[in-house]
Amino acid sequence: MLSIAGTDPTGGAGLQADLKAIAAADGYGMGVVTALVAQNTHGVRSVHVPGTAFLREQLDAVSDDVVVDAVKVGMLGTADVVRTVTDWLREHRPPVVVVDPVMVATSGDRLLDESAAAAMGDLLALADLVTPNRAELAELVALAGTDGPGDGTPTEAALLVARRWDVLVLAKGGHDDGPTSDDVLVAPDGTTRTFTGPRIDTTNTHGTGCSLSSAIATLAARDGDWELAVGGAKAWLTAALRGADALQVGTGNGPVDH
Ligand code: PLP
Repeated sequence: MLSIAGTDPTGGAGLQADLKAIAAADGYGMGVVTALVAQNTHGVRSVHVPGTAFLREQLDAVSDDVVVDAVKVGMLGTADVVRTVTDWLREHRPPVVVVDPVMVATSGDRLLDESAAAAMGDLLALADLVTPNRAELAELVALAGTDGPGDGTPTEAALLVARRWDVLVLAKGGHDDGPTSDDVLVAPDGTTRTFTGPRIDTTNTHGTGCSLSSAIATLAARDGDWELAVGGAKAWLTAALRGADALQVGTGNGPVDH
């Protein structure tokens, strides 16, 4: 199971979180680095994006040697990185591709250049599942450029995205208010399924999106069933959120207990 993602040296988000989530889901994790991020639980200090020739060498080093059952794509940073990952995916077509359309961190720091969003369409067309939060869903609807309802429900927005790129969309509601956290899985044919979990009262939510998408990809590759994978990954993340406050990593927005 390969994560293509940015890093978090404090281990809460990004590639480091992905590898923990993959291990928790009983997968064998591999990692290709898109961006080196100097960050902690308070936010991002700086980002270094290695050249895309080197990124391609990392990707090829994996695929020349190892059978990849599933890929999770996280932070990409720049349009060139988006295109390099897209080209590699088009050539290799791994059986399971989950894209977490990482755009802005909870801390407010941008993790994808504004100019790179436009390049995301070609990547989404190669994905099986995309997992936007509310803000990312709005950006994807704008990118879809369809004349659907701009003020519609998250489910309507997700359907626009699902139809535009023929992809499953998990519209995550973790940032909403209310006693539950509801994520809606929407298929291009309009089928929807809502996954409801309790809202866990914690500010230690750093890296939840990274962890969820990695767990889903791992479970989907093993079980071949998207609904089982989403349900299983969400249940696991709920337990990880329950343990977050006891973990005590950093003094900001800390990680969950992977
Ligand atoms: N850092 C990296 C490398 C990420 O990929 C992400 C999100 O996917 C984040 C940070 C953001 O973490 P959060 O918004 O959960 O704090």
